[in-house]
Amino acid sequence: MKYLIHLFTITFCLQIQALELSFEAPYDCRENFKHTSYCIVTRPKEWKESEKKLIRKLLEKSPKDLIKQLKNDRGDTLHLYRMGFGQSPVGRILYKQNTETIAWVHHERRWAISLTDNFFAIDKLIEGSDHITFKHYTLVHELGHLLDRSKNSSEKKDFLSLYIWRRAEQVDPLSFISRTRWQMDAIDSDELKGIRESIANYVEQDQLKEAARYAYHQAQKLQLPSIYATQNPSECFAELVASYYLAPEVFSNLPQIVRQWLLAELD
Ligand SMILES: [Zn+2]
Repeated sequence: MKYLIHLFTITFCLQIQALELSFEAPYDCRENFKHTSYCIVTRPKEWKESEKKLIRKLLEKSPKDLIKQLKNDRGDTLHLYRMGFGQSPVGRILYKQNTETIAWVHHERRWAISLTDNFFAIDKLIEGSDHITFKHYTLVHELGHLLDRSKNSSEKKDFLSLYIWRRAEQVDPLSFISRTRWQMDAIDSDELKGIRESIANYVEQDQLKEAARYAYHQAQKLQLPSIYATQNPSECFAELVASYYLAPEVFSNLPQIVRQWLLAELD
């Protein structure tokens, strides 16, 4: 028995160590990089040693089975880019809003995440938890997007039917990100509009804590992983993954059919 435990410990450690992190040097926006629009507003930067240390620590704490699945599909190296100012260009131009971008995954198949100044600046715990940081949650959310890219989870019919997603004719200008072209029919659209207006009001008055608390309670009431999850199926999937791993009280409050679907998908 002792031997078995020992063997398990060795395998476990090897699995974590096998994940290599590649902290990429800033690239030239003129290089034919696929994220040119982001590149123009959010310049690539050098990594600080303290930032690298933080990311290593957070990834060590991140769900091992999720990382293992990603590694199987994408290889052993996770590429990380350090970006500057994270204002979404589309949000700023179309809605004259400061839609702050925190992190994103790359559209190519490479296993890559970009993190902006905002990611490092936001220093708070997630709502409803006394120990999970917003940084950790964001990182797991991004890993959720990468998993989605591998499995196309958020495009599956049975996933879309969970919260009754359909293509929207109009884009809600108060939605957090401008590329939203989806409507979640499981939630009354007027109610959602009211919630988004209230959140926007809090944010406008710089009452960010109140905004987060309000959004959290509204999401709990509506049995959603978060209000942000109402953006589109892809954000919904990433929020479900993050809540499953890091916000168990949120996850356990979701409809049973949603929980069962996600567990089967992650298996
Ligand atoms: Zn996302």
